[in-house]
Amino acid sequence: MTGVGTGLLMRQAPPFVVDHDVAPDRPKATFRSTNKIPRMRRPTDQVGGSRGFRQFILKIHGRCDLACDHCYVYTMADQRWQLRPRMMSSNTMDQVAARIAEHVRAHRPGSVEVVLHGGEPLLAGPQRLAHCVRGLRAAVGSDAEVQVRMQTNGLRLDADLLPLLDELRIQVGVSLDGDQAAHDRHRKRPDGTGSYSLVANALRTLGEHRELFGGLLCTIDLRNDPVRTYENLLEFAPPAVDFLLPNGNWSSPPPGRQRSAETPYADWLIAVFDRWYRAAEQETHVRLFAEILNVLFGGMSTVEGIGLSPTAMVVVETDGAIEASDMLTGVYEGAAETGLNVARDPFDAALRHPVFQAAEPARECLECSLHRVCGGGLHAHRYRAGSPGGGFANPSVYCADLFRLISHIRDSVARDLIPLQRNFS
Ligand code: SF4
Repeated sequence: MTGVGTGLLMRQAPPFVVDHDVAPDRPKATFRSTNKIPRMRRPTDQVGGSRGFRQFILKIHGRCDLACDHCYVYTMADQRWQLRPRMMSSNTMDQVAARIAEHVRAHRPGSVEVVLHGGEPLLAGPQRLAHCVRGLRAAVGSDAEVQVRMQTNGLRLDADLLPLLDELRIQVGVSLDGDQAAHDRHRKRPDGTGSYSLVANALRTLGEHRELFGGLLCTIDLRNDPVRTYENLLEFAPPAVDFLLPNGNWSSPPPGRQRSAETPYADWLIAVFDRWYRAAEQETHVRLFAEILNVLFGGMSTVEGIGLSPTAMVVVETDGAIEASDMLTGVYEGAAETGLNVARDPFDAALRHPVFQAAEPARECLECSLHRVCGGGLHAHRYRAGSPGGGFANPSVYCADLFRLISHIRDSVARDLIPLQRNFS
């Protein structure tokens, strides 16, 4: 066994058993808890010694200087972004800071993560950025550590900005879809030209300040070769890579998902997993695979869409509106809406709002042997319009892909565990 897999195995005790009575070339790993479906935890339940939201996504700028055709913010059913202010005002930023501080004092989480998001957060400009981050840390004070991240398209990321990001301790994640052809197919500027060369320059600059480099976010396009895409990302030596499944649901399926039994996204991701897991040394952290391994080995998922951990993430729009995940923009207009606003309402009011309550799982998910790991996928991917079967009580539109991917990862690790078990038994 090699690389990342070894590290994870050394740190965590496996909750699954390896069955030696099956063919040696295909060991069968089964969860001890296969028949016991854990109670769905709610956002208000105790999590890791504290309660409440842990991750605050702040839409500090509501527009973007790219016009990506796969962007789920602007191109999907929910068009309310057009009615909101372009940029979060200083006053709203101050209200957000006060509300996060209030939430931290109420729930004592130890640390919280704030993600500066958009649109494109760097359009807010250095002064507004600094106002936001300094205000947040001043309001929370010593009650919790405030980890600040930013997700940017990279166009405005240059050497002049890095000292400020360093001073504000902002970890920067950049969106990159692969090589120039893959990236420029979707991530175009308003004049139709691609953005790859600008982003690549920004990444080279960021690479000289590795302490600020959070990682790369790659939206999957099945037309791109998976291993080549992964290796294109590795050229920038990212500390972490995350792969994003295109937004979609049963009524508006993602590209390439025509028949429910097909697994094109699993096939794509398995090729990347094998390249990552079998590498001679760990080249980067791949969040999706690491989270699946974490949950397979008994941990609590820290990301939405894997495992049964409750949603600990809340979004604040440029006008101060408190909302659920913006992935719900693809479902219907207002699907993420709470009617709450940081100007009037504490985040505790959002914890009690139905949109933050865990949806009832689909019957198929409750009967699924991988439910504890899969969790039924992202909320936004479960939606089906109309009736019968309408709403969110469905398996993910990526169900077949998730089942195959998780099974492959489980079986790959199980195969490596057999010799270890024999050596130590
Ligand atoms: S979405 Fe599919 S793979 Fe995931 S838990 Fe539900 S039935 Fe199982």
